Amino acid sequence: MSLWWLLVVLVVWILVVALVVAPLAGPAALSYQAPIPIGALFDTHKDVVTRTGFMYAISTHNGQARRSGQGMIFHTELDDLDTDDSFKFASTMCQQMAGGIFAFYGRTSMASHQIAQAFSREFNMPFIAMSHAGSASKPDHPYTVSILPHVADAIADLIRHYGWSRLDYIYDSYEGLYQVQYIHTLLNNLSYSVDITYSWLDDVNHVHDELRRLDKQNTRSEKNFIIDLSTQNAYRVVLSQIPEVGMNRMGYNYLLATMDMATLDLQRFRHGGVNITGFQLINYSDPYVQEFVRAWSTVEPTVWPGAGNNKIELAAALSVDALEAFRRALDNMVKRQHNVFLSTFRRGVVYNRNLTQGIPCYTRPAIPWMHGPVMMLAFKEITFDGLTGHVNFDGRGYRKNYKLDIVTVSLDKGPHKTGEWHSERGLLQEMTVRRQRPVNNTRPRSVQVISSILTKPFLMVKKGPGPSGKPLTGNNRYEGYCKDLTDELQGYLRMDYVLKPVNDGEFGKELPNGTWTGVVGDLRRGEADMAVAPLTITADRERVIDFAKPFMNIAISMMIKRPEKQKPGVFAFMEPFSIPLWSCIVIAYVTVSVVVYLVSKFSPYEWSNRSYRYDRVVKYDFNLGNSFWFSMEALMLQGSDHCPRSVAGRVIGGAWWFFVLIVITSYTANLAAFLTVERMLHPIETADDLATQTEITYGLVDGGSTRKFFETSQVPTYQRMWNYMKTAQPPVFVKTVEEGVQRVRDSKGKYAFLIESSMNNYYNNRKPCDTARVGGDLNLEGFGIAMPHGSDLKEIITYATLKMKEDGTLHRLETKWWYEKGECGSNTGHRESNKRSLSLSNVAGVFYILITGLVLAIVLGLVEIYLNKRYSAKAQEQIMARTRTQTTIAETPPAEQINGLLEPYKILRHPR
Ligand code: GLU
Repeated sequence: MSLWWLLVVLVVWILVVALVVAPLAGPAALSYQAPIPIGALFDTHKDVVTRTGFMYAISTHNGQARRSGQGMIFHTELDDLDTDDSFKFASTMCQQMAGGIFAFYGRTSMASHQIAQAFSREFNMPFIAMSHAGSASKPDHPYTVSILPHVADAIADLIRHYGWSRLDYIYDSYEGLYQVQYIHTLLNNLSYSVDITYSWLDDVNHVHDELRRLDKQNTRSEKNFIIDLSTQNAYRVVLSQIPEVGMNRMGYNYLLATMDMATLDLQRFRHGGVNITGFQLINYSDPYVQEFVRAWSTVEPTVWPGAGNNKIELAAALSVDALEAFRRALDNMVKRQHNVFLSTFRRGVVYNRNLTQGIPCYTRPAIPWMHGPVMMLAFKEITFDGLTGHVNFDGRGYRKNYKLDIVTVSLDKGPHKTGEWHSERGLLQEMTVRRQRPVNNTRPRSVQVISSILTKPFLMVKKGPGPSGKPLTGNNRYEGYCKDLTDELQGYLRMDYVLKPVNDGEFGKELPNGTWTGVVGDLRRGEADMAVAPLTITADRERVIDFAKPFMNIAISMMIKRPEKQKPGVFAFMEPFSIPLWSCIVIAYVTVSVVVYLVSKFSPYEWSNRSYRYDRVVKYDFNLGNSFWFSMEALMLQGSDHCPRSVAGRVIGGAWWFFVLIVITSYTANLAAFLTVERMLHPIETADDLATQTEITYGLVDGGSTRKFFETSQVPTYQRMWNYMKTAQPPVFVKTVEEGVQRVRDSKGKYAFLIESSMNNYYNNRKPCDTARVGGDLNLEGFGIAMPHGSDLKEIITYATLKMKEDGTLHRLETKWWYEKGECGSNTGHRESNKRSLSLSNVAGVFYILITGLVLAIVLGLVEIYLNKRYSAKAQEQIMARTRTQTTIAETPPAEQINGLLEPYKILRHPR
């Protein structure tokens, strides 16, 4: 018995330990004794410091893990190779995978980029890239995360900010070539025109000649150079040669494509007057960075090349962050499923899906790495502040939410931070920051730059010279609703202003790199203090700029070419009924007539007695002709001289009359509309009509809110329309509203334009008055005055807007620009003219029928007279002939003779 008790107590104890202690130990405490292997591929020449950083990160991490007895231990399969040698690259990758690795870290060159991508895709093997070989335009590589942030967008923003119109781009690798091409395209897309000379450096140690050549070649005063080199050392070498060729003087501007300005010695450029700008990713004022650098500076540089310095090179810092990102991704996987790697290791060796040792390349089909997909998801979830700032990847594995300091050295100044560039928010130069300082509302403001867009009737260039005959200057060059609105605002803001139509002619859309075009872009870049424009308030824009309350309510609407008015034709009286209905009426008429005939023929109650001179004649009214005539009389609402006598006949008659009553009243009710109204037949009435047809193409303004609305809408009809528009050939998007309206006018009704109602109404009121707004409103929106985020103008502009709404100013402006300047009269709006008296042409068809009837009647009358004459002459002759030959006078004339004369009466001999 006591043994049983002992057993029970033991079981309970085990359960308690399992339930209470095990969760406390938890996945976080979980550690793998087997080191986690990570492959590393470095370039022999370029990656000396990268390698140091990576090895240093692994060693410090492992040391800590061992000391604390917690966390993973890493181990690297590292190879130095010539990354341009694609065969070597492929075989090394294969080798490393066959040995079993969790992921790759390293650099690829132009030549090895495709191989690395192909391997990682085929084997689901994550690749943490520290270079952008291949393309600067962020292509989609499903198994790659890029630890190196992109600098190309920041360069493009700075070029625009400086307003450079020409520059020499000096580079030493394909990466540089891709980068300059990307920048060039980006600027082109933003309609920023810049003349770029590409200049490839074969040997960075001998740049003198190339620099001199470029200098001589450029005879302009604008001497701008962008230097994009593949290693920090190369920058040092090139910078050292600039003073040697005397190109460190006033008037020379250099923009370095490095994100590591802190490791370059720029002090010596403070005296020549040259301007050198670049970027800095590592923030040395960050406590974590400071702590790391303290340890880094104590490391022995002979063992760890590149270390032992109080500045850490970006390549080394990226390696540290790459390992941390990898660690966090694995940690996330373990937290989610604490035994996720349990089956992966056997006696410290990596097994893939329990099938192969390592991940061999030769298996056919390829056996992908079992943890690859989940690891990639885990990478996209991590977020931490590393040495290179905020580390966070977007859905495609590129760094997001990072910030670059802009560092400049110029005459007697610097190197010092002159601004910031943020991957999501773009350029934030110091002057921009200054512009947004709080200003007291009651104080007159300085000159405000007001961005707007040339679009009718909001802002237009005034034609001709001013009243004094002199050419117009300044704000007087413009007119329109927005100009008047700004003048009104001036009273509230007490400001001087400069109207600046946006350069690229766009309203504002976000580019993939997070920058904005158009009016929104002007505000974002600090190139304008506010925007008074038909700028739609959207959630997307509200994220990056501020809007005051809307000054105009609008909706997305449809514009089509006004169809030609349809004059009623001569046979318009036929139109109230469709052809099938007319046919049914005719069939009903014939059927009723025939049935009336049959009923009266067979029903004895239809027969009536008539006495004639010699006999009693029994007659019935409804022979075939009379039956048709009876139905026709009813159909034409005429009184009838024949009426059915039998019950059956009357039932038919009643039903027919009822039928006729309804048909005629329906016809009469419709007739007036068809005869009098000049109708406009709109081929399209609703968005659904547009979506479900293919004959009429439709489009909208590129770079505006309407496009964004369709792009993001969840409504099936709009989604369908967007799917059509985005792929339509030829493209259906237009650059400006004016271009869209012109396309509607030129396309003979085959192009519909999705346009905001205010502009739709305006153009419909302008000559040649050939456009029309159709359908309902697709989405209600508002135009608002916009300003940069945090601007103190918002409150006062909101107040001014509401005030102008209440006191009727906005209404007055709208009336002035939309209705008083209208050119199409009131008839050309939505409504159709309907007050018209009938003209002969409306009813000419009825006259034609009457005339035809008369002519036919005359012809038939003549024929009848002729036939009658012939028959009566013949009958007379016959009677005379018989009278002459008969000797006895019959009591009664022969029945057949009477028959012949009295057709269609049926003659019966009276029974005596
Ligand atoms: N008002 C629109 C905007 O602010 C532009 C016109 C449109 O997209 O239809 O972007």
